[in-house]
Amino acid sequence: MDNSKLKILLIEDDKIDQKAFEWLIREENLPYDSAIVKSISEARDILDCKQFDVIVSDFSLCDGTAFDILSSVKDTPVILVTGAGNEEIAVKAIKAGACDYLIKDIGRTYLKAIPTMVENAIKHKKLELILDQKQKNLMAIFDAVPIGMLLVDENLIVKRVNDAVRQTVLRDFRQIINRPIGQSLYCINSTYNERGCGFSPSCATCVLRETITCALNTGQSVRKVEMQPVLKVAGKEISPWFCVSAEPVIIDGSKHVVIAIDDISDRKNAEEKLKETMEIKSQFISTVSHELRTPLGCMKEGISIVLDGIVGQVNDQQRKFLDMAKRNADRLAALVNEVLDFQRLEANKVKLNIQENNISEVIDEAYQTMTSFAKQKSIDFTLELEGNLPKARFDSAKIIQVLTNLISNAIKFTPAGGKVSVCVKRQDENLVIRVSDTGMGIPKEALSKIFDHFYRVHRLGKEIQGTGLGLSIVSKIVTLHGGRIEVESEIDKGTSFIVFLPLSGKPAPEVLPAKMDEALEKTLTNH
Ligand code: ADP
Repeated sequence: MDNSKLKILLIEDDKIDQKAFEWLIREENLPYDSAIVKSISEARDILDCKQFDVIVSDFSLCDGTAFDILSSVKDTPVILVTGAGNEEIAVKAIKAGACDYLIKDIGRTYLKAIPTMVENAIKHKKLELILDQKQKNLMAIFDAVPIGMLLVDENLIVKRVNDAVRQTVLRDFRQIINRPIGQSLYCINSTYNERGCGFSPSCATCVLRETITCALNTGQSVRKVEMQPVLKVAGKEISPWFCVSAEPVIIDGSKHVVIAIDDISDRKNAEEKLKETMEIKSQFISTVSHELRTPLGCMKEGISIVLDGIVGQVNDQQRKFLDMAKRNADRLAALVNEVLDFQRLEANKVKLNIQENNISEVIDEAYQTMTSFAKQKSIDFTLELEGNLPKARFDSAKIIQVLTNLISNAIKFTPAGGKVSVCVKRQDENLVIRVSDTGMGIPKEALSKIFDHFYRVHRLGKEIQGTGLGLSIVSKIVTLHGGRIEVESEIDKGTSFIVFLPLSGKPAPEVLPAKMDEALEKTLTNH
């Protein structure tokens, strides 16, 4: 047998039509390897032992009709041949799976169409196979992905689920397919009282129903909706957290939705635990700091009374030790205050007192406070204010805190004899405050980290005391004002911090809960 030839089976009981078909093959030199049978039973026999590329079948045969063949051959294209006036049958045959039809005529000109029809039938079959394969691949992915996948039709009836869904709801295939989604997943609300729930098609507050309906109505995908339905699994009620996405698709001409359901209970529980831990941690910090403040205040007061000679004369050596004790008590008090400030800002507990203020006065106050500190270190400390600075809206106490922090850092990290300057001007709708020094500078690789809490640049042999909280507090206060802070620095040349403060005093939008979690998480993992 020639394998390059197309194998065609003709089912035809009319001898003349059989001959005409053979004549056509010869006359047109068609590359067909043909077989001819005259009945359904003969066709079945030959089909049992031989594979054909195309079947051309007369409709009415002595022992049945072409429908009998159509139901038994699924993979071979069938071209139906009917007599004139039988078009209705031909259409039915197409619906039953025939790939095309021909109407017989007296002159047998219909035969001429056979080569083109055979060619089309084969092309059609190939395309069908490719599509079929693609569909199978897609379904294999659908079944294999580790997150739950459901296919529902527009009445919210479940048409297909994958293994991950079955494992989550511990039910077998028959209890899920062709049921409304609420019953399939056994949502207790949809099953018993139809109140607000995760799955009921009839429930007005059902998150899943809303998600699917939205995807169906808009034709757009809906992504990452979180919900917590109450399900009954193996006789027990459970409340898992799910993250749901819905993708509208058209299958066999009608609207469907593919739903991906990811069980995020572990993540949600971990988040919940983390939040609780952070709350305990932040309460602990706040309680400890407050408890430290009072005794510290008493210690400082006591030392000052002795130092001032109120309770008797103090000799030089005693003064030296008392001074040391005072310095350390002051440092401890500053540290406690910084930790408290940081914790309140981090927990979003700081409310700004925004008022219309004169920036020159505020800057001057910070400048005066820091002058003695600069003098002690023999630093040339200057202030430069642009004329006619407009009034601006900000929390003056907080901006003074920002300035004293930046100035004290500048003085701290600049060797004696160096310079520190504060310069303020207006630029568009911002006040620009620049605090510059001629100090040791900050290494390039540290610039992106210095605003992180507890971050400090370690310099061997040049360790300068601090908490690593100052800049983090500064940047949070500036951000709360809707402003921003930048830094420029060169090693051994100096550093400038530039604060951009909006004149309008429009506070930044509240920190989103997610962002807050992130900050808390970071704090927890770092410390
Ligand atoms: P602290 O000053 O308490 O260490 P900060 O958060 O204020 O904490 O600053 C973080 C780090 O940034 C400092 O440890 C220091 O290394 C660096 N830094 C801040 N300001 C300056 C400055 N003006 N010059 C050089 N380094 C600075």
